[in-house]
Amino acid sequence: MMWKILNSEEEEWSLFISAKFKDRNGQWTCNWKQSSIWTGLKWAWNTLKEDIRWNVGTGSKISVWYDIWLGGCALIEEIGLTDYVKNHIRMKVQDLILEGNWYVPTELQQIISVNSLPVIRGGSDQIVWTINDGKFYTNVAAEKIRHKETFLTWPKYIWKNFLHPSIASNISELQQEVYVDDEVMRKNGFELASMCCICLEAQDTMYHILWECDFSVAVWNWLNGVFCFANPKSFDEVCSAANNKSPLVRKIWMIAACAAMRELWFQKNAKFFEEKKLNLNRNKCRIVQLVHEGGYRLNGVSWGNLMKLR
Ligand SMILES: [Zn+2]
Repeated sequence: MMWKILNSEEEEWSLFISAKFKDRNGQWTCNWKQSSIWTGLKWAWNTLKEDIRWNVGTGSKISVWYDIWLGGCALIEEIGLTDYVKNHIRMKVQDLILEGNWYVPTELQQIISVNSLPVIRGGSDQIVWTINDGKFYTNVAAEKIRHKETFLTWPKYIWKNFLHPSIASNISELQQEVYVDDEVMRKNGFELASMCCICLEAQDTMYHILWECDFSVAVWNWLNGVFCFANPKSFDEVCSAANNKSPLVRKIWMIAACAAMRELWFQKNAKFFEEKKLNLNRNKCRIVQLVHEGGYRLNGVSWGNLMKLR
């Protein structure tokens, strides 16, 4: 699908998707649209983009920084987001061509070696799939994506019948970084003085919100009191925390911990966008309620008899 979008720029649905999911620099956005289509597309894109490069026609479609057209990777990965890049973020390869010849500004000659420049073919720019002689085969792409998927361990912990699909889907979004925090803004080239809107200290990153912030530490401490696990610092730690416990405790822990992560994320948004006051007790009640609802999926386990189980 991603390949079709890239190659059918004139078609209406492709234009629609491009408009919706490309950012102001014409790059595929990483975090803006919390759309279920985009979660899948973004992931496919991140997997496939390593194998896509451009043959220079006129250069009008090729981003100097983000596309692979010179050497083995995108220039931005080599040089990072320097001041020059920031000031010329929309620069196209076309801007380096004058009357069919390379014309690289002096400031760029340190980065772009004149000897390594590719042939200017003229005509429209072409995307080349670097596996299989430039031809794109859906089955090869699917194989690659499937191969990559096997390296992820967390999905097998959340797509379970005991965990409500909406929670599983939120955790999956967190894991695939489908959210906006200040770190994401900075990666997109915004300069900001960052502050957590809850504790008014530290930086506003999802890592901070989930694992470090005073409020989240209070929530994890409380869960600690129930489960006797160390406070996790990542979702991997959440997944492994209950490894030595009984299957039932493992399941309840996963519901409680995933519910806690989701509530921390949502509370931060509620505070940030709606200026709602945080309330630790309300947060705890919500987690207990989610565990309770999950308990029905587990044949009647309740928070009350959890103490006996552990
Ligand atoms: Zn904080």
